[in-house]
Amino acid sequence: MTESNRRRNDARSAEAFARAKKVIPGGVNSPVRAFKSVGLTPVYMERGEGSRVYDIDGNVYIDYVASWGPLIMGHAHPEVVEALRKTAERGTSFGAPTELETLMAELVCERVPSVDVVRMVNSGTEATMSALRLARGYTKRSKIMKFEGSYHGHADSLLIKAGSGVATLGLPDSPGVPEHVASHTITVPYNDIESVKLAFEKFGEEIACVIVEPVAGNMGVVPPLPGFLEGLREVTTQYGTLLIFDEVMTGFRVGYQCAQGLFGVTPDLTCFGKVIGGGLPVGAYGGKREIMEMIAPSGPIYQAGTLSGNPLAMAAGYTTLKLLTPETYELLERQAVRLQLGFEANAAKHGIASTINRVGSMVCPFFTEKTVINYETAKSADLERFKTYFAAMLDLGVSIAPSQFEGMFVSAVHSDADIDETIAVHDQALSRL
Ligand code: PLP
Repeated sequence: MTESNRRRNDARSAEAFARAKKVIPGGVNSPVRAFKSVGLTPVYMERGEGSRVYDIDGNVYIDYVASWGPLIMGHAHPEVVEALRKTAERGTSFGAPTELETLMAELVCERVPSVDVVRMVNSGTEATMSALRLARGYTKRSKIMKFEGSYHGHADSLLIKAGSGVATLGLPDSPGVPEHVASHTITVPYNDIESVKLAFEKFGEEIACVIVEPVAGNMGVVPPLPGFLEGLREVTTQYGTLLIFDEVMTGFRVGYQCAQGLFGVTPDLTCFGKVIGGGLPVGAYGGKREIMEMIAPSGPIYQAGTLSGNPLAMAAGYTTLKLLTPETYELLERQAVRLQLGFEANAAKHGIASTINRVGSMVCPFFTEKTVINYETAKSADLERFKTYFAAMLDLGVSIAPSQFEGMFVSAVHSDADIDETIAVHDQALSRL
């Protein structure tokens, strides 16, 4: 078999999926893992090491899923594994404070100037959900604003899509979200500051917070247009509304001081997840002391967690953040630029409509000629073409997320050879379209 028509084995993965479906809803513990949108069955992983993952059928992939973002230092980084081992030997959880939690909080506060105080939780969803409660409790207002195509986890208030029109009161995106909850969520197009201002003219005094991904990462990768984040800062300040940056994906991913450092805009509150946990379940939210001190036990707004600040999770997160120096981000940028340029050259060679968006180590090749600035333009991508491309990339040994609306995550352990091989595989994959 030549390289270009290589197919992977998937017999054991298919068997494992059939078995799982009998006891797990849809066979998976998070829907996107089911590969439904690409019409395939999931690949069951056995292990990961550095930039590579190995499935149960014996296939090897260069990995750009990185557990959907967290693994910026690659799989099973020796220092992270060692920190986990040492911590586990002393006990996995106490339900009492440990000094490691303070070390972690000090590190986050030092890296991210807008964060005076930070509270650890167990996922990105918990972080955004808790930040919303805090914003509502602090401002004594009910409405929130989010952006079309942005994902902030699965809390009821945030699982809302836009209806038609410029500024629409939300409709639930899932059965089970009560309409009265959804009606407090205003959804506007990303990167459209005029829509934001219009909505504020109408509802400004009622809006507790604007929650925004400073780089949208759940409609592919969509950078903020110049002035968008600054405009949000201005209008929220004017109306006494809190500005929340959801940096669950971008936090410690796009830069040493997160997206807020990169774009120079300071939010009131920030949500973290993914990288901050180094591959273990961690989320966090933090910000101005005056606001954060409203949380129990220093204030009346309740939020808690049996395993929050868990020693293993803190050990993995702390070790990962320590490994991330300014030089690491320079390396990530260099490798991601090489990937982008290689992909652009391949698309031009094959005459395939393509727009590649990138911020730091988040890279997204869209199958569209349009400039992608929001959900509407992201949706112009050819999803049928993406399916064929995705299957080809997997067959040829590169693992990417099974969705056109998700970027690739370059990690600090992707070598020059990995990047070259990925560009060569992309070239072959495009020839199958
Ligand atoms: N916010 C953003 C921007 C995300 O990308 C995600 C997850 O992909 C979340 C929140 C939810 O995080 P979690 O899946 O850890 O609950």
